[in-house]
Amino acid sequence: MIFPYLPILLVDLIGSIMMMILSFLCLRFLFKLKRTDPNNLIWTFLLWLCLALACFAVSRAAGHILKNILVLSGHRSIWQMIRPFSGGINTITFIVAGSVTLFFERIWNTYQLILKDRKELRITHDKLLYLNENLEKMIDERTRALAVSEYKYRQLFEVSRDMIIVAGKDGRILNLNPSGCHMLGLDCTQENISKRYVQEFLFDKKGWPAIMSAVETNGFISSDEYVVLTSEGVSLRALFSASSAKGAVGEEDSIYILVKNIEKRRLMEAQIAQADKLASIGELSSGVAHEINNPLGIILGYSQLLLRNEGKASPLYQDLKTIEKQVKNCKTIVEDLLRFARTSPSRKEKCDIRQLIEDVLGFLQHNFNPDKIRIKKDYDIKLVPMLLDEKRIKQVIMNLVMNALHAIGNSGTIEIATLAHPHRNKVSMIIRDTGHGIEKKYLPRIFDPFFTTKPTGEGTGLGLSVSYGIIKNHGGTINVESTPGKGSTFTIDLPVNI
Ligand code: ADP
Repeated sequence: MIFPYLPILLVDLIGSIMMMILSFLCLRFLFKLKRTDPNNLIWTFLLWLCLALACFAVSRAAGHILKNILVLSGHRSIWQMIRPFSGGINTITFIVAGSVTLFFERIWNTYQLILKDRKELRITHDKLLYLNENLEKMIDERTRALAVSEYKYRQLFEVSRDMIIVAGKDGRILNLNPSGCHMLGLDCTQENISKRYVQEFLFDKKGWPAIMSAVETNGFISSDEYVVLTSEGVSLRALFSASSAKGAVGEEDSIYILVKNIEKRRLMEAQIAQADKLASIGELSSGVAHEINNPLGIILGYSQLLLRNEGKASPLYQDLKTIEKQVKNCKTIVEDLLRFARTSPSRKEKCDIRQLIEDVLGFLQHNFNPDKIRIKKDYDIKLVPMLLDEKRIKQVIMNLVMNALHAIGNSGTIEIATLAHPHRNKVSMIIRDTGHGIEKKYLPRIFDPFFTTKPTGEGTGLGLSVSYGIIKNHGGTINVESTPGKGSTFTIDLPVNI
């Protein structure tokens, strides 16, 4: 009965023995691998799997061998009894193998996550290590870059020709550049400026609120004109540009203000406008003067002709004399007008300006009381002879000195100074008096023809305009500075043309 199954039983027997041997060989091999790398998770997993499979192989092979022995020896009934135990052990070992695999799958995922974290940790660690090693160098580099940038902006602040103010919102000056100190006439120690407010230096007291409200509404102001009042009380027209800046941590917000002094530019514009105005008046008046000059000549000629035929006792004689005098006055005015308009040719010769002043003063000495009116002279010894129209320059000096005498009245001082500027190739003549001065509103008009503040009959208003024309004709300039109640200073600059 059993005989036909013998080969297959043998195969089963040998197969079972081989199964056990192979599983134990695998186990041994994995033990070896595990020993070489105890932390290797795969080797651990395979070791456990092999252990489960070895158990399974032993249980299964032992079961089959036992079964074959019992069946061959005719004890099939005993095998039937223990068969469920063998099957149970097989099932358990398989469950163990399956569980180990599933468990490993979980472990493997966790392991991968740990590996990822470990990698990131290592990168961070490397970065930290790099930072640690290079931190000092990096701080050094940043500090140097910051210092360079700070130096650049400091330079901008220091060398700017315009005033730069950093102020708090209440107007308190936090920082002021050297140009600002110069413009405001301040001695710029930090202690000095930190007690000052921008509004102190604004002529218009509503200026600061206006600036602040514009900055708060629009964020900035650009080139708004305000008058700056320096600490010496001088007023300067200036353009204000400002914007607000957020303060750094722990610092208040501030306003950055750039102030451009345009006083010189405005004065220049006024001078150009004045020159234009005088040029057009000159053109007009010279036309009129030419037209009037001829009839005046004829009237003068006829009145002199009639005078010749009248005896001094004649009733007409005095009338004709009056006509002659008035016509001569008119002719003088007309000639002045023509001179102002520069129509008559000038004759320039080499002369010493000091001599011209002396001649005029000599001529005028009977017009004032030397006990009450002091004439101070201050001539520069470096003066050189100049090419001048002697008669006309004398007329200018005469006009200016006569005006000064009129302004000081009974007593005072007139100072006449000359100054050589060899490097600039020019000579200045300054005539200063301690008279009543000129009101600010009249200053722009005093060179206009016919402008006079003197009573009718005392002034024609042509003296300064004629002087202006003569000086222009010489390529020079004439300027005035005056403080009402204290006096006036006329400065004439003439080029040295030798
Ligand atoms: P006039 O002397 O005939 O008035 P000017 O052209 O010489 O004409 O002067 C014009 C005006 O300028 C004067 O009327 C006077 O108001 C003013 N002025 C000129 N020189 C002086 C001075 N030295 N001090 C004060 N005012 C002056």
